Amino acid sequence: MDDATARMRLESMLEELDRSIGVLTGDPVSVRERSAADAGSDLTDADRTRAMIDVATRQRTAVLAALKRLDEGGYGRCVDCGKIVPEGRLEARPEAARCVQCQSRVERRR
Ligand SMILES: [Zn+2]
Repeated sequence: MDDATARMRLESMLEELDRSIGVLTGDPVSVRERSAADAGSDLTDADRTRAMIDVATRQRTAVLAALKRLDEGGYGRCVDCGKIVPEGRLEARPEAARCVQCQSRVERRR
């Protein structure tokens, strides 16, 4: 995947994330109306919405970081070990900052 393709995919991901974050956060009126109608299920809805915002925000940060690496010429290399991130991994997750080995190490640390 060349830089131009990566940038295009990252920018469209960013747009989509912005849109869904906007939808998830930008509609407090309907959330209030739902909670008045059915206070019991609203907590679950609110929790689910918050979790979705959380995931989308984290992914947005990863996409922005990937775009920055594109600008700086470090895109496609693992931020930890500096090795080339395999093409297939970038195809699946253009925002990936690490190779599979380093990523699983980071995830185990959590
Ligand atoms: Zn690595």
